[in-house]
Amino acid sequence: MRVLVALGGNAMTAPDGRARPEDQQRAIGVAMEAVADLVAVGHDVVLTHGNGPQVGNLLVKNEMAAATVPPVPLDWCGAQTQGTIGFTMVGALEAALRDRGLSRPVAAVVTRTRVDGDDPGFSRPTKPVGRHLSAQDARPLVAHGQVWQDRGERGWRRVVASPEPREILDAHTVVTLLAAGYLVVAAGGGGIPVVLDEDGRARGVEAVIDKDLTAALLARTVGADVLLVATDVENAIVGYGTPDPRPLGRIRVAELESLARAGHFASGSMGPKVEAALRFARAGGRSVITSLERIVPAVQGGAGTVVEPDEPDERSGRGPEPG
Ligand code: ADP
Ligand code: MG
Repeated sequence: MRVLVALGGNAMTAPDGRARPEDQQRAIGVAMEAVADLVAVGHDVVLTHGNGPQVGNLLVKNEMAAATVPPVPLDWCGAQTQGTIGFTMVGALEAALRDRGLSRPVAAVVTRTRVDGDDPGFSRPTKPVGRHLSAQDARPLVAHGQVWQDRGERGWRRVVASPEPREILDAHTVVTLLAAGYLVVAAGGGGIPVVLDEDGRARGVEAVIDKDLTAALLARTVGADVLLVATDVENAIVGYGTPDPRPLGRIRVAELESLARAGHFASGSMGPKVEAALRFARAGGRSVITSLERIVPAVQGGAGTVVEPDEPDERSGRGPEPG
C-alpha cells in the first residue's frame, strides 16, 4: 500500500517543545525509525511534516536582526524549513533503512502549494505565528504592514492568512520520484504558499498553509491508499479534557462529521486533523489519526482512529485521481 504519513510538531521537537538543532535531530531520528518500520513491512511511504516551531524561530531572528539584515518573507521561511527539515529527515531515514538492511533512495522536494489570491484569509488573517510582543514592540511591525492582535495578558501576536491549499504545484516531481522507487518528503509545512499570476508565474505569498489539509490533498494527488496523520495522541477523542473521554476507533465519515460539528475537536490542533481525515475519506480513501509509535499497527487497521468512506468503494481502496 502507498501510505502518506503526515508528521506533527512533536515528531520534530523535544517532548517539552524545545527546538534546538539536537532536539530536532533526535526527534526526527525517532520518527524515521517508525517510518522505516513501515517500509520494512512492505509499504510505499510519502512523508510530509509540520514546521510551526521552526518558522517561529526564524520569525524571532527576523525581528531581532531587522536593523542589520533584511527580514525575509514567510514563503521564504517555509522554503528554508523545508530545506533543513527535509535534509535532516533524508539522512535519518537513510540510516534507519540501512539498519534494517533495506536500500531505498530517499529525496526531499522543495514543494509549492497553490492558493487563491482572493482567499478570505488574506483579508481576515486568523493564524497566529511567532512569539508574543509588547504593544510597543509590535508597533513598528504594524507600521510595516503586518497584522498584529492584542491577545490580552500574553501581549500582541502576529496573525497571517491560512489559505485553503488548492494544488500541489510540484506534484509531477513527487510522482516521478515515486515511480523511480524513491521515498519522498514533500510539501513540508503545508507547502510554500504561492499564487499564480496572470502569466502563470508562481509568486510566493505571506501565508502559512495548514499541514494536515495539505497532507489530505497530497495523499489524493499521489494516489495514496492511506492518509496517516501521526501526532502525539493515539486516537481522536470525544469529550477530550472531560472526566469521560471516549477514544474513537473505526468510524464512518457521516458519524465523524456530526461529532466535528458538535465541537469535539479543537480548532488549532485536532480539528484540522479530523478535517483532513474527512476530506481524504470522502474522496474514497482510508484515513488514520494516531501516535507516531502506533503507525505500523494503525496502517493494518489495528490502532488509532480509522476513518472510512460512508459507501465502501468496491473497486479498490485507492482515492480517486485529483481533479
Ligand atoms: P501536531 O503538532 O502533531 O500536528 P497538535 O499538537 O496540533 O499536533 O494536535 C494534537 C493535540 O490535539 C493533542 O496533543 C491534544 O492535546 C489536542 N487535542 C485537542 N482536541 C483533541 C481531541 N478531541 N482528541 C484528541 N486530542 C485533542
Ligand atoms: Mg503539537
